[in-house]
Amino acid sequence: MDYQAVLHQIADDVAPLVGRGTPAAYIPALADVDPSRFGMAVADLDGKVYGVGDWQRPFSAQSITKVFTLALALARGGDSLWEHVGREPSGNPFNSLVQLEYENGIPRNPFINAGALVVTDRLQTLTGDASSELLEFLREETGNPELAFDAVVAESESAHGDRNAALAHFMASYGNIANDVPTLLDHYFWQCAIEMSCADLALAARFLARHGLRADGSRLLTRSEAKQINAVMLTCGTYDAAGDFAYRVGLPGKSGVGGGIVAIVPGHCTLCVWSPGLDARGNSVAGVAALDRFTTLTGLSVF
Ligand code: GLN
Repeated sequence: MDYQAVLHQIADDVAPLVGRGTPAAYIPALADVDPSRFGMAVADLDGKVYGVGDWQRPFSAQSITKVFTLALALARGGDSLWEHVGREPSGNPFNSLVQLEYENGIPRNPFINAGALVVTDRLQTLTGDASSELLEFLREETGNPELAFDAVVAESESAHGDRNAALAHFMASYGNIANDVPTLLDHYFWQCAIEMSCADLALAARFLARHGLRADGSRLLTRSEAKQINAVMLTCGTYDAAGDFAYRVGLPGKSGVGGGIVAIVPGHCTLCVWSPGLDARGNSVAGVAALDRFTTLTGLSVF
C-alpha cells in the first residue's frame, strides 16, 4: 500500500472542508487554535510513519487520551474495571449528566467524560499518579521524550471545569469514585492537556493494531483485550456520532475536542488526523471526511 500517495490524495480531496466547523470554545485556551490547520499520519505495524500537511505539529490530544488511560487501567487492574463503567454507546453529548442518575452513577462507557473520570480514578488508585503514568507510557510508545502537558490548557480546563466537577461529585455520591474529587479532576485535566502530533498519536496507538503488543514487543494487553478496546472505540469513540462514524469510516476511532481523531486498522496500521474545526457533536469536520476517504480509497476497514 502506497500510504504516502493516499495521504496526498486525501489532503487534496478534503481541502475544501478544512476551516469548516468551529474550534472548541468552551475551553478558552483551545479556541485560539488556527482553524486552517490540517495534518494526517499513518503508522505501519513496524512504526514507519507517513504524513501530510501539519502531521508533525503538536496539538491538544484531549479525549483521544481516554483510549490510553483505558488501556493502562485494564492492563494494570483487569476486568474489574467493568464493574464501574459500561460499554454501551450513550447517544448523548460527551459531557452529559443525564444518564447517570438512572444508572446509579455507572457511566455508559469509558469514552464519554463521566466514564473517563471513572477510568482515571481507577488508574489513580492503581498507580498513585495517573497522569504521570500516562505521559510516561506515551513517551515510551512514541519514542518522543519531549511529549508534555500544556499547563495553559490544563489550567483553562480547570478554570472552566464545573461540568466535569459535577460529573465526578455525582458519581462519588454513588460510591463510584475512590479518590478525592479535586485530585481526580487535576489528573483528568492534565491528561486531556497532553500535546501530541498526528505522528505521535499514530505511533502511540499502535498496540491496538498489533493485537496488544507495545512498541518494544512486550505485551500490554491480551489479544482479546485489544479487540475489546477497538470494539468500544467503534461503538462509543465519537460520542453521539459513533453510528455515523462507523457508517462512514468503518474503523474503531477516538476523537478529541482539540480536533484530532485516531483510528485503527487492526493488523495493518494506525491513523491520526487533525483539523480543529468541529461539527455540532465535537468531531473534526475535515478529520472525519479524511478518514472516510482513507477507507474508501484503500478498502482497509474492519468490514
Ligand atoms: N477536556 C475535555 C473535557 O473534559 C475533553 C473533552 C473531549 O475531548 N471530548 O471537557
